[in-house]
Parts: sequence; C-alpha cells; structure tokens
Amino acid sequence: MGLSCFRVRSKTSQGQSAERVSGQYAGWLFFLFVLAVNLPNLLWLQPNSSLLLNGTEYMERLVLGMLLAACFVCLFARPWVAWLYLWLLFLWWLPLALGVRVIAGTPITATLIGTAVATSPAELSNLVTSIPSLWLALFALWNLMCLMFLYWLCRRSSRRWSWGFRGKTAFFCLAMLGLPYLVLNDKPLSAKAAEQSGLNPATAPERSAPRFSPGHTLHELDKADQQVGFSYRLPGAFPYELPWAAVQYSQARRAVNAIRAHLQEPDAAFGMQGYEPAAEVVVLVIGESSTRNAWRWFNPQAPATTPRLEARVAQGEHLFGFANTLAQSTATRQAVPSMLTAQPLIWPDGTPNPQATRSIVSVAADAGYATAWFSNQAAVGKHDGIIASYAEEAAATAFLNPSSFHAQGNYDAVLLPALQRHLDTHRQVFVVLHTMGSHFNYRHRYPAGFGPYHDTSDAREAYFNSVAYTDTVLDNIMEMLSLDGRKAVLVYAADHGESIPGGACAVGAANRHTRDAYEVPALVWLSDSYAQTWPAMAEQLKANVQQSYSVAAIPQTLLDLMRADSQVGLHVPEVQSFLRHGAWRDEQGQAVPDTWTKRLQLAIEENPCFMILR
Ligand SMILES: [Zn+2]
Repeated sequence: MGLSCFRVRSKTSQGQSAERVSGQYAGWLFFLFVLAVNLPNLLWLQPNSSLLLNGTEYMERLVLGMLLAACFVCLFARPWVAWLYLWLLFLWWLPLALGVRVIAGTPITATLIGTAVATSPAELSNLVTSIPSLWLALFALWNLMCLMFLYWLCRRSSRRWSWGFRGKTAFFCLAMLGLPYLVLNDKPLSAKAAEQSGLNPATAPERSAPRFSPGHTLHELDKADQQVGFSYRLPGAFPYELPWAAVQYSQARRAVNAIRAHLQEPDAAFGMQGYEPAAEVVVLVIGESSTRNAWRWFNPQAPATTPRLEARVAQGEHLFGFANTLAQSTATRQAVPSMLTAQPLIWPDGTPNPQATRSIVSVAADAGYATAWFSNQAAVGKHDGIIASYAEEAAATAFLNPSSFHAQGNYDAVLLPALQRHLDTHRQVFVVLHTMGSHFNYRHRYPAGFGPYHDTSDAREAYFNSVAYTDTVLDNIMEMLSLDGRKAVLVYAADHGESIPGGACAVGAANRHTRDAYEVPALVWLSDSYAQTWPAMAEQLKANVQQSYSVAAIPQTLLDLMRADSQVGLHVPEVQSFLRHGAWRDEQGQAVPDTWTKRLQLAIEENPCFMILR
C-alpha cells in the first residue's frame, strides 16, 4: 500500500498539479490529526482532586500538547506523509499510554519503566499475561484503524495543505507557545502548581527530612530523582512521557548503581556457613506506616483491626507479637535498609555507611535458598531506589504496583499469587514481601467496603481499615504456609508508624512527630512443622515478647531462625534478635532500657507532639 502511495506521488510530479486541500476540509483534517495525538491528554487523571487547582494543570498540559502537535503537523505539506510519521512515531503505542492512564491513573513514568526493568523476565511474563485481552484487542484495532486511515489518505495523496495555511497555523502556534514566556517571564503557572503538589500530604512526612550535602548518598539519590529537562508539563503529556520517563529512569538507575558499587560481602559471622538451613520457607514481610497502637492485638483500646491474628493466637498457634518494638527512623528509605542488614547503605539517621554490606537476601541465596523479592512499592525514585536496590540481590524480583503512592494502585494481596508461585516451584525459599501497608492515602490500601468502618471517608477510620487489611494479608500468608506444610517462618515488622489524624496531640493531618510514628508492630509466626522440629526457638520467642527491641532486630532474627540457633556469638555486639534478650544489662546485671528506647523516652518527655530523636 505504501508503494501505491509513491506511485500516485510520482504521477503527480510528472505533470498533474498538486491538489490543494480545500479550506474547511483542510482545517478539519489538520484538527483531526492534532486531536488524535492528544487523545490520552484528554483523560482527567485525578477524579477526586480540586477542579480549580488541577483544572489549570490539565488545561495547560492539553493546550501545550495541542500546540506542539500542530507545529509538528505543519512540517508536512501532504496529509498522508504527516499521518505516516505520526503513526510510526507516536500513534502505534497510544493504546498503551491510554491503558496505563486508565489502569494506573498516571502517564507512563520512570516508576513504571523501573517496575518493568526491575521485574525479572519470568515474573514479567506473569505480569504481561495478566493484561486483560480487551487491551490487546484494542491495541490491534487501533493500529488497524490507523492503517486504514493511511490508506484512505493515500488514495488522495495528491492533496496538500497550502503554504499559507501551514505558515499562518505555525506562526499562531509558535506565538501562543512563546507568549507565557514573554509576558509572564518563565513558567509561573507550572512552577506554582509543582510547588503546590509538593505540599501533598502523601509525601509531606518524608519531605521534612533535612537536606544533605553533595557526595552524600541521599543527596545523590535526591539529585537523581530531580525532574529531567525544562518542562513541568511535558513529562505528563502524550507522547513526550515515554522518552522523558526513560531518561528519568536511567538517571535514577545510575545513582543507585554508583551507591551499590562499593558494597562488601557480609561478615562471615553473619552467614550460614556450617549450618543446614533449619527453615525450608522464610518469608519477611515489610510493613509500611503501621503504628502498633492501631493494632487491637497490641492495644485493647483500638478498634477491631486485627481479628484474624488474634484468632490465631487464641487457637494457640506459634504466633508471637513483640509489644515493645521501635522504628529507628520515620523515613522509609532510612528505616528499611536496617531491617535487611546490620551494615546498611545508610544508617537510620541518614548518614552513609562506608562499611555497607550485602543483605540477609544474599546470605540466604548463598545458603541455597531460592530468593525472591516481591514488592507492592515502586522500583525507582529517591524514596524507593535505595530499597529496591536490595531487591537486586534476589534471584526473582517482581514489582507489582505500576502506580505511585498518590494513586490507587494495587492492594497488598497482589503479592500473594507471586508468593504461591514461588513456593510451588522451589524446594527451599526465602521471600521478601514489601507491602504498601497503611501508606497515605489510606483509602487506597483496601477494597471498597473493607474493614471495621465500611466505606468511610474519614482519614482516621480509613487508617484503621488499612490496618485491618494488613491483618487479612498476613492471615492469608500464614494460611498459605500452613497448607504448604513445610518448615516455615514468617517475620513481619513495619518500617515505621504514623501519627494518624485525630490521634494523640490532636494531629490534624497525618505526620510522623509523635510516639505513634515510632511504636511499630512486629511479629514472628512459625509453622507447626518448624515449631515441632525446633521447640527451643518457639520457647525463646515466647519468652521475649515483652522485651524492648528496634526493627534492626529483623536480620539477626531471620538468621537465628534459619540456623535454629540463637546462642552463637554476634559479629556486632549490639545487634538484636527477637530470639535473644532485648534488654541491656547494667553492671549489677539489672535489665536497663537500650539507648534507643531511652532516647525515645527523653524525646517524649521533651515534647510528645514534636519528637526529635538525635
Ligand atoms: Zn515507610
């Protein structure tokens, strides 16, 4: 068909004068082209947001997209050539951009590219097969329509847009594009909108973190996450989103690679040398923004948020809740690395660690475990990159949430089928599940109607619902491991808590300044076969449930459980484990609170509503 176009063209050049597209028809055809390229930009992506604030943003992006597309089409005199270029460059993947907008609620972003790249091929094929066939059909249909339209244009290939029409249109569009810069000096509307979006409570607690100097691990991550290029609007507009996201992703990737380049091997004492793995299945669930005080199991004053776990305790299962566990930092990226290794890339206070080593994931891999990291959080970005970089130590990885914190995204139950598949295909497994837990926006964390407060719009009640959802997810995992029958251990702890609206200190909007942000839930569950084989482990866990710990106890807890030995010496003396005494001893052998618990107490005494632990 392309050939026939060229044949018609050569005929025209041999004698017939080129036919001008007549006035009104020319305009409509031109407008149709511009509209086609901007179809995804017509979608309103923030259903619950303010029309006033996001309406400006939406219009700005749409107008910008239309003007740029018009300038592009002006480059071509012949409509069929213009359409061919539009199709080959942009329109063929338009259904993908539309699908992402409808399913994930965002344009194609660096996060989404990171999700695809960080997911191992076998897991990726599972993701791809989960795409509804409706979208694949739409993809084919759309491209067929584009092809048919090209054919229709080719039949009229002698038609051209006149110089006058293109010149005037291009002049008008360029003038409109330049106007805001000339009159308003730089891009104030965009800049303002970006500032306002910076106030989004979803990121506010993490944004209050201090700035870091150049060369600092976190500074490099922040820098890598900065918006690439000059425009605030284009990265969110079709068709600019894809190249923009690719560049943004590679910038973030380079920063993480540079940070991980100096990782050392774990200390020999933090390994499985000389041990046969005592547990065949090890699952670490990393919770998110969950405060222990919202868990009824730990706090009888809380609403009924943990009925399933309480039922398991009542049935006498080997389920141990550690009632005095503290977060070490209220920022995810500073809290999570210490839950994976005693030598994290950054310490919980944010300082880089030059002695950083690979994590418990590598230790498990070396011991012969089939390791996996399944995440409902993102794979890139300044908050996620450093954590996702630990995922690289696992043999199988899947990032199952194509969305961001701000959007609806997937519920944590999306992790369960991946876990089940991994259990079904390997004899001895070590799996990390990184959940979205109770991260703001709480209402996005559980299905409609779920939890003790059905369909509530109150943030406090929604928070309790999200905790109840975590209760269900943990219960489902325990059920899966019970049915599996192997010697299994499950360890859960939240990275930090959250000061929820309407709680202590009359918190208006969620923050992380009160004790609720530091007091986190932590638990260990043993399968019957594990507990029967290693009864001493169950006894030690039971004896320690009231001891004081921080979540830095997690890596050693996992190792002790994998070895079924908690007597052997520690490579770092202050390392904790839920299988070892948490309380420190003074010279008389009396139990004293550890330094972290003491600092928390001091901070509470100083100002319980704005705690500073340093
Ligand atoms: Zn977090």
